[in-house]
This record gives sequence, structure tokens and C-alpha cells, in this order.
Amino acid sequence: MTTSARRILLVEDEKAIRDAVSAYLEREGYWVTPAADGEQALEEFDKHRFDLVVLDLMLPKISGEEVCRSIRDGSDVPIIMLTAKGETEDRIAGLELGADDYLVKPFSPRELVARVRALLRRAHADTEPQRDRLVFGGLEIDTVGHKVFLGGEELDLTASEFKLLVTLARYPGRVYTRMELVEKVLGYDFEGYERTIDSHVKNLRAKMHDDPRDPTFIWTVHGVGYRFEVAGDGTG
Ligand code: CA
Repeated sequence: MTTSARRILLVEDEKAIRDAVSAYLEREGYWVTPAADGEQALEEFDKHRFDLVVLDLMLPKISGEEVCRSIRDGSDVPIIMLTAKGETEDRIAGLELGADDYLVKPFSPRELVARVRALLRRAHADTEPQRDRLVFGGLEIDTVGHKVFLGGEELDLTASEFKLLVTLARYPGRVYTRMELVEKVLGYDFEGYERTIDSHVKNLRAKMHDDPRDPTFIWTVHGVGYRFEVAGDGTG
């Protein structure tokens, strides 16, 4: 175990899942503290400093929602919610409670490890000054010069499309709800504008030659919103 091992609080009442996920994360070099219910989770959270929390939504004693809210009261530690409900509303509620990402059960441990890595990377990037240039394979975003190049060709983006792309690409892997994108990209807060985001995404994808059914950059998170993630080497 290296001193740089990241510490993860794993809150899950189903022992089989807890053990499997724990073993998987430990094999990846993470230091895992398991908790079997919400009460234990909050006790552990008070005792140690964690780099990330994996939190089941349906828990005995104190619900995952409550645990999330309590943690968020005084900490911006990255939180991944596990949900068995599969209901879109619950996933969105999780994100609105302050979770950073979620996984729907049953999930593959590999998928969880990938999300954990992405979140830890992002949490680390948050403490660094924002980069002026974002480069993902063939995609280059100059956030100061407001220019985007794909395979060396400059893309002709509108101000909203540009803002949308930068918002998503700053934090690869993070899921944004349509409402969040409305606020960040259009700067106002009104439900009727959620579909506007869909049309901006549609136009942006067309300009980036990004196929929604087989995306290289912009992924639809069904019933929730969008996330940016580079598939392969980013050359499309
Ligand atoms: Ca559960």
C-alpha cells in the first residue's frame, strides 16, 4: 500500500455487493472502509478523511438521501450514488442532492472503478487552475480564444454551442442534467428551456460529426442529460 492510496467510503447494505465492490476497489489500490448502513456511514465519515464516497440509495436506518445531504452539509467529497430503483426521478434526485455521479444496479465493478477514477481525477483537477486549452485526441478547445478544432479543422460554433461544449468537456465523465446545462449555458433557470439544450446538443453533435448512437464525445444519459467522455483515441 502506497502512501498516496485514496480512501473510499463504501456504503452498501447488501453484503455480497459490498464484498465484491470492496475487493475490486482494493485490487485497484484503493483503501476501502465499508459501512453496512447509513448510521455507520456517517460515523465513519466523521472519523476519517475520505477522497470519495460510494453510496447506496436504499439503506437501513438512515437513507442514502439523508447520508448524502449530511455529508454535503460540510464536505464537497465526490459521491457516487448506487441506485436499484432505475427510476429517472430518483437518479435526478440523487444528482440534485449533491451526488456527482450515479450507477444503476446491477453494474459491473469495472464500470464503477472507471467512474471512481474519473471522479478522483476531476476532484483533483478542481484544485488546479482552470486550463485554457482542453485537448482530447483530435479535439482541441481554446477556451480563451473561443476556438474549437477537430482534426485540425476549425469548427464554426455558436456562442451557446461553444459554452455547452466547454461546460461538458471541463469535467469528462460528469453527468449534467438538462436543468444544470440550461443554467450554465443559457444562464437562466426555467424548465421550458430544457428542450433548448437538446437542440444545442443536436447542432453541436452535427458540427462535430458525433453520432448520438455511437458517440465519440457527447453521450446521452437517458432521462437525465448528457456527459462528455472520449471514446477510443478521440479521432472518431
Ligand atoms: Ca440497498
